Amino acid sequence: MTTILFRNVEVDGQPVDVRVTADTIATVGHDLDVDGAEVVDGRGGALIPGLHDHHVHLLAMAAARRSVDLTGLTDVEGIGGALQRAAATNPTTRWLRATGWHEPELDRNTLDRLVPDRPVRVQHRSGALWVLNSRALEATGFDEPTGRLFGMDDALRDRIPPDEPLDLAAVGQRFLAAGVTGVTDATPTDRPGDVQLLAESGLHVLAMSAPTLNFEGAGPAKLILADHALPGLDEVVGAIRTAHGDGRPIAVHCVTAAALVLALAAWDEAGASTGDRIEHGSVIPPELIPAIAAHRLTVVTQPNFVGERGDDYLADVDAHDVPSLYRCRSLLDGGVDVGFGTDAPFGDPDPWLAIKAATNRRTTIGAIVGAEERVDAATALDKFLGDPRRPGGPPRRVQPGGPADLVLLDAPLADVLAEPSAERVRATVSRSSGVAWRP
Ligand SMILES: [Zn+2]
Repeated sequence: MTTILFRNVEVDGQPVDVRVTADTIATVGHDLDVDGAEVVDGRGGALIPGLHDHHVHLLAMAAARRSVDLTGLTDVEGIGGALQRAAATNPTTRWLRATGWHEPELDRNTLDRLVPDRPVRVQHRSGALWVLNSRALEATGFDEPTGRLFGMDDALRDRIPPDEPLDLAAVGQRFLAAGVTGVTDATPTDRPGDVQLLAESGLHVLAMSAPTLNFEGAGPAKLILADHALPGLDEVVGAIRTAHGDGRPIAVHCVTAAALVLALAAWDEAGASTGDRIEHGSVIPPELIPAIAAHRLTVVTQPNFVGERGDDYLADVDAHDVPSLYRCRSLLDGGVDVGFGTDAPFGDPDPWLAIKAATNRRTTIGAIVGAEERVDAATALDKFLGDPRRPGGPPRRVQPGGPADLVLLDAPLADVLAEPSAERVRATVSRSSGVAWRP
């Protein structure tokens, strides 16, 4: 890559020049020589490390790009209309894939009534449930009268005829445009080919994998505690021991309080290891915070869901549990490391929306969820700046010798944090590829 000289950028509150060569930040100083570099005038804007989204699902994002989006549709007629419009523009042999569904309840019969003539599958917005119509059940051979398949992603992919190849590069561009240069993929892959595919995003990807698949550069082992059918304690203890025995931390998906209680009991027995993490921590009763801190577990959480789904939570979640939703401040005060991930495509991939939601805890209609859990915007940004293998650790900094993953903002950091938005990103630099994104 070419050498880049950033003139007049703000780093750690100071106006400086920054020279980037090869994959590395070479110099941070004043009045640096051009010396053949491509010069970018920073106009006083902040230069910060590339953000890392600590919890995403890249393949699901790529698939969602060619799916029918049911987000916000709340009745059967609305969902039917969206599916039928998509059906009208696609050949009858083609599967319809829809995502973002939340309510009302759907089953095989409802889908048959809406779209009888072709295979349809609809994914719950949690990602944990697919509903298939009769055509789709016939085509895949699943014997499930309701058409509702929990936790069957891999089995479904095996039985559904392949569609066009997934466009991971387009997904990567979307992140780069928001200043995100790296992600942790939280789908517990058990196929080496998927890891190859993730790299096509052009992002630095730390891939979680099934405890049985360990590969060069692998991230934590991922264990999903399904909310609808929790495994036994022995099984969870066994998974933790397998990962640790392999020299890997484990990431345990805990959405409900019951799942968290189970996971903590398993850690009590198996012991925790550096890098072990709780994914989501959607409901953390206050009395469990000391145990999370004692095991030195990191919570990788999604404040963006407070913004995106907060109104649903206020309607559906027991009032007693509302203060325990997607905690942040109380975890930090309790000595727990916290990292942020958007859970895209189940959450919006824009990290700046998550930063905003972490600071104001405001729902779409302006209600507040867990006011006590607010953090300031600088703290929220730091939760996207931790090392990929230490999501809640100290934020990476722009300093000589550091990796050339950088984001140029359109104003000093304090101004941007006063009104956080992806619009404030002027350019994103990524190791190896140079300026990877610029409007
Ligand atoms: Zn997830």
